[in-house]
Amino acid sequence: PLVLGIESSCDETGVGVVRGTALLAHEVASSVEEHVRFGGVIPEIAARAHLEALVPTIRRALDTADVTLADLDAIAVTSGPGLAGALIVGVAGAKALATALGTPLYGINHLVAHVGVGMLDGVRPAQWDDLPEDLGALLVSGGHTEILRVGRISSEVELLGSTIDDAAGEAYDKVARLIGAGYPGGPVIDRLAAQGDPTAFRFPRGLTAGKFVGSAEEPGPHRHDWSFSGLKTAVSRAVEQFEARGLEVPRADIAASFQEAVADVITAKAVRACREHGLTHLMLGGGVAANSRLRSLLADRCRSTGIELVVPPVGLCTDNGAMVAALGARLVADGVAPSDLAFGADPGQPVGLVSLP
Ligand code: ATP
Ligand code: MG
Ligand code: FE
Repeated sequence: PLVLGIESSCDETGVGVVRGTALLAHEVASSVEEHVRFGGVIPEIAARAHLEALVPTIRRALDTADVTLADLDAIAVTSGPGLAGALIVGVAGAKALATALGTPLYGINHLVAHVGVGMLDGVRPAQWDDLPEDLGALLVSGGHTEILRVGRISSEVELLGSTIDDAAGEAYDKVARLIGAGYPGGPVIDRLAAQGDPTAFRFPRGLTAGKFVGSAEEPGPHRHDWSFSGLKTAVSRAVEQFEARGLEVPRADIAASFQEAVADVITAKAVRACREHGLTHLMLGGGVAANSRLRSLLADRCRSTGIELVVPPVGLCTDNGAMVAALGARLVADGVAPSDLAFGADPGQPVGLVSLP
């Protein structure tokens, strides 16, 4: 099926066109520059930027794919989770198109769509004809840190663990602000860390104490969850201690040690969740997938535990419309009924709800 996918859950307006598992076009307009002076995504600004970018981005994607609206078999749009005002713009636009064209519309889950990108030709490993049934997905971005079990992407997705406070990307952005490194924090800290010593500071790995983790037989309350707020506080204390003594803050060492703590705890817990749930394949997604240390440590730990790791190209890890179109095409292929056009954006849409009824 020929499917148009629309993504507007955060600060990227993404539009993708796929035919089955073939990616025909994928256009992204980001409002990230407009959030720089605030050091984080401002929901109202993001929503207004989507409003301006949506129609031109749809036009560009259709042009690149060399198809017309009338050719579409279905439209898919991110209905949640995400920022309410941002989601509403994409959902309203998609509903308008679907109503005018009489095309089936799917309101789909943003997190599951991140996994859906793994079905696309060129992303899917050559040895897979489809997503394996024992697939884990590690999603790490400015708004999310989650590990999922994906049995069947159109109908059986389960949340195994998530952050109980900040998302990993959010921690990067906050720590970057603490050391005056700018926004978005991920890329700057990644670069700064390359010049620092990752063992200079021993920053805390949240929720790794026995009372949280427990054992395989008797799991603790947060066995597969993460927490990054204590790490952020520890970095803040370290910075203050140097400043209070009038010393220069060792920014590169702090960046490297912070990055090590994040990569260590994310990969350790993700690999443990996979092992305990018998998942021998793992897909990485989200903007923080661009992080050099996260990638290398995850690759090492997957290799040593016999987990096959798939990392899509960075442009398909950050928010995009191709992933939404890819999941939409799969729902059509699996005979899943389109969403009732009365649906609305669902900022808290759970992963179990792959598409809205
Ligand atoms: P959502 O959470 O809804 O998926 P988002 O816009 O917050 O959306 P992305 O656009 O996928 O997420 O990713 C942006 C995040 O990725 C930012 O927090 C940014 O700091 C982080 N990031 C980007 N590059 C790197 C990197 N090299 N290392 C660490 N973090 C990075
Ligand atoms: Mg973004
Ligand atoms: Fe995302």
